[in-house]
Amino acid sequence: MNRLAACYLEISENMEIIKKLKYRNRKRLERNPLMQKKIRTRFAPSPTGFMHVGNLRTALYEYLIAKSMDGDFVLRIEDTDQERLVEGAVDVIYDTLDRVGLRHDEGPDMGGAFGPYVQSQRRELYRPYAEQLVRDGKAYYCFCTKARLDSLHGEEENGFGGYDRHCRDLPQEEVDRLLSLGTPYVIRQKMPIEGSTTFEDAVYGSITIENAELEDQILLKSDGYPTYNFANVIDDHLMEITHVVRGCEYLTSTPKYNLLYEALGWEIPVYVHLPLIMGKNEDGTVSKLSKRHGSTGFDDLVKEGYLPEVIINYIALLGWCPKDNQEVFTLEELTKNFSVHGISKSPAVFDYDKLTWFNGEYLRAMPPEAFTDLAMPYYKEAFPDTELDWAVLSSILQPRVTQMTQIPDMIGFFGALPDYDKELFVNKKSKTNLENSVTMLQEAIQALEGVDDWCVEKIHTTLLELAPKLEVKNGTLLWPVRIAAAGMTVTPGGAIEILAILGKEESLRRLGLGLQKLGVS
Ligand code: GLU
Repeated sequence: MNRLAACYLEISENMEIIKKLKYRNRKRLERNPLMQKKIRTRFAPSPTGFMHVGNLRTALYEYLIAKSMDGDFVLRIEDTDQERLVEGAVDVIYDTLDRVGLRHDEGPDMGGAFGPYVQSQRRELYRPYAEQLVRDGKAYYCFCTKARLDSLHGEEENGFGGYDRHCRDLPQEEVDRLLSLGTPYVIRQKMPIEGSTTFEDAVYGSITIENAELEDQILLKSDGYPTYNFANVIDDHLMEITHVVRGCEYLTSTPKYNLLYEALGWEIPVYVHLPLIMGKNEDGTVSKLSKRHGSTGFDDLVKEGYLPEVIINYIALLGWCPKDNQEVFTLEELTKNFSVHGISKSPAVFDYDKLTWFNGEYLRAMPPEAFTDLAMPYYKEAFPDTELDWAVLSSILQPRVTQMTQIPDMIGFFGALPDYDKELFVNKKSKTNLENSVTMLQEAIQALEGVDDWCVEKIHTTLLELAPKLEVKNGTLLWPVRIAAAGMTVTPGGAIEILAILGKEESLRRLGLGLQKLGVS
């Protein structure tokens, strides 16, 4: 075969492979219609100035769903409720997402092809859709006054979900007349009078609600602003959101959203409703997570000494169950492992002890220098003007700390020797009593006075060589030294590290004070 023929053969073989691949790809797309589109999720917080762990979990799951399928994660600020706006609240959202590493692909701060991403800046965009629905006979102008609506309260049992549909069938001339007079109005959606609406939720399965229970919901308010439900649907559609992920408190509103999608002739997104987050009560029961269970906001948890990466790792498991029993995940690992199928519909319990355990695991796994950096603000809080051997201090704290906020209490004794009782020198296990403690301290002082290069190693050698000379176990020597140095029985680290951190002068001073306490002057 000449070279040209060989070349042709290779080309035609390649063409065959390409054809097969294309066919397979097409079949895959047909089987999974969502694969035809880029997956797009959105985190749509209302700026309240506070990032509840439930909201953060929603953001995380939206991020993971998008990123695990190579999709886009969009940030949209839902500020239609102008009365509830809080200054600086949007910054709390940016800051939290940034600190936990949930980077959005589009949003108010970075723009994107579907902006603006703040609902108040989209205000003009909603009205035409509402008016279109009126023209199509799927919505209507409602001129009912507040006084009239108030008088309807308590009439929920009228079968229309609250509003009695007074304006639903006003004659067109009457509508025109009222409009021309400038009468304030809202636009309401016409809900079906009969039948039921069913939708599929990726977590909760098939859910049906009787249409008769649905109120003719307001789409456009009298101030021209859209209602939250209306803006949410329009935006999700215009932003080409494929997966709507949110707390299960929205489950009952979903039929309303779907009826809107249908009225507008739009494709309904995949719904992923997330289980409730509960807190443990003192009596062993559980109820919706609230302040009385502990901190519920991201910032507060950080202030309590939990690391942002721990918070995100922990909340990933609130409602999602990994395939194997792995518990510690980086965000990257979560992205690889996450799947909607692993989301459970049973309520998740926020367990503060478990969160603390996670935090301890993370802290222990850190490089020592990183731990020192993290601990420095707490070290400086306890010792604003003193330079201690921070590395040694970290070496005794890192294995023990589970929350950074424990540090000031744990190290307070370095700054000031607590006023302790001499009975602390008595310890059965170490075989110490008030008499031999005197000898131990005297010998220790003498030996330590000769140490020039004051560091863990030298102190270690000095004291551990001294014990056999005194014909006592190490513990018998080290117990009184630690009590005199720390003034307490439970300390992070042992006598040697404590002495190293205190420095020679302060160590010897404290051992001398110990002797005084034991009646030796
Ligand atoms: N703005 C809503 C909230 O903060 C979001 C609801 C949704 O994701 O559809 O709860």
